[in-house]
Amino acid sequence: MSSPYQPVVGLEVHAVLETRSKMFCDCPLVDSTHAEPNVAVCPVCSGMPGMLPVINQAAVEYAVRVALALNCQVHSTSIFARKSYFYPDLPKGFQISQYEQPLATDGWLEFDTAEGEQRVAIRRVHIEEDTGKLTHVEEDGGRYSLVDLNRSGVPLLEIVTEPQLHSVEAVRNCAYALRSILRYVGVNSGNLEKGLLRIEPNISIRPAGSTEFGTRVEVKNLNSFRSLERAVAYELERQGALLEGGGAVVQQTLGWDDARGMTQPQRSKEFAEDYRYFPEPDLPPLVLDPAWVEDVRASLPELPHTRLKRFAGQYGLSGYDAGVLTAEREVADFYEAAVAAAKQADAKLVANWVSGPLFGLLNEAGAELGALPFGPAELAALLDLLAGGAINPAGARLALAELFASGGQPAEIVERLGLQQVSDAGQLQAWAAETLARHPQQVAEYLGGNAPLLNWLFGQALKLSGGKADPAALRAELERQIADAGLQKEQSA
Ligand SMILES: [Zn+2]
Repeated sequence: MSSPYQPVVGLEVHAVLETRSKMFCDCPLVDSTHAEPNVAVCPVCSGMPGMLPVINQAAVEYAVRVALALNCQVHSTSIFARKSYFYPDLPKGFQISQYEQPLATDGWLEFDTAEGEQRVAIRRVHIEEDTGKLTHVEEDGGRYSLVDLNRSGVPLLEIVTEPQLHSVEAVRNCAYALRSILRYVGVNSGNLEKGLLRIEPNISIRPAGSTEFGTRVEVKNLNSFRSLERAVAYELERQGALLEGGGAVVQQTLGWDDARGMTQPQRSKEFAEDYRYFPEPDLPPLVLDPAWVEDVRASLPELPHTRLKRFAGQYGLSGYDAGVLTAEREVADFYEAAVAAAKQADAKLVANWVSGPLFGLLNEAGAELGALPFGPAELAALLDLLAGGAINPAGARLALAELFASGGQPAEIVERLGLQQVSDAGQLQAWAAETLARHPQQVAEYLGGNAPLLNWLFGQALKLSGGKADPAALRAELERQIADAGLQKEQSA
């Protein structure tokens, strides 16, 4: 049964611009999950009276990179504003943000779904500063709130999409695509757990076919993509049930409770009408030289979605494989370098080995591609040995594991570990014969009609060869000998 309601979701994203220093002072950015509280604080970011903010030029460049990558119009003049905000995690009593004249507007982002390519419009991209962090504790019968200002004044980019996402899948893939872009242009590591990237969906539903918007809720506290998906699915379900039962959705901010798998109302700090924005008197308008903006545009790397489409066409990969290989810039670079270095292995074989065995080893070790003790040229050399028949897939896996553990040259590893594929006919005959001799029962059952046993027997033969036999040739030899045995049995019967 299809739902009578259409989901309507937009995203509001806050990404820390991971520059060396904060937005308006030269305090360093520290890892908020490890650093001692209040080690990166000065009179500017702790809001001492009379201190003047100075714009971090690197943060502006980072912001422009993202705005351009999202196909936005970057405005030559944008204005910083004070957003009144009375809460102890921001001692100034206001947050410096951009309001009426943001850095950039009117962009778009492309991503893939099962139904094909989709595009979501980007309403605005603006620069602001982060707030500090409050920790509420209860002990010895008292309640305390601890203030940590390490995060106060950290440069943030706010990215707002139009509400044009109409499924949980679209929300997830759009969020992944955005994260991928932030990582490609080198401004944000995309870590949701540490709060370096915060994704807040606004969610409503409306009768299918309607063009009017329903009442929306915003969901906060999503610290993983999994939570994002679960929260959106939960809200769509909840709102649908409400409307079905004759109720109404209340506009509010909700928090996601991951353990209980549900949203719940958050006590909101303030209402939009209370922000009382006004231009920040201590900062001049941010004026960008159009020539400089063009320089930034020219310095952007090929972006993930463009690269995905090129990979599919140029290397003959499926959309899925191309997506896996281009999600991270380092992986895509590694793959292309390996394809370029390979002499016999083709692009498809390299793709299979990067996204299969190599990713498997990386995941198992919890390692990053950058930490590998070998490069794309060594992977290409290894796969050339495989494509040329010098080693079989089992040998290639062992050689890759050794390369992964200690580096070195594939040809030397194959030699040292004795992984050369054996294609010698006499040797293959001996292994096949030995297999038949060891498992007469299974051979008889196979001949009696238990067809799947052939694969089992082949596995035994391959094991007997220490995994070194040319698999296709060994299998052919095994099948020939079993057929012979069957013939002899018939003749003797
Ligand atoms: Zn500071």
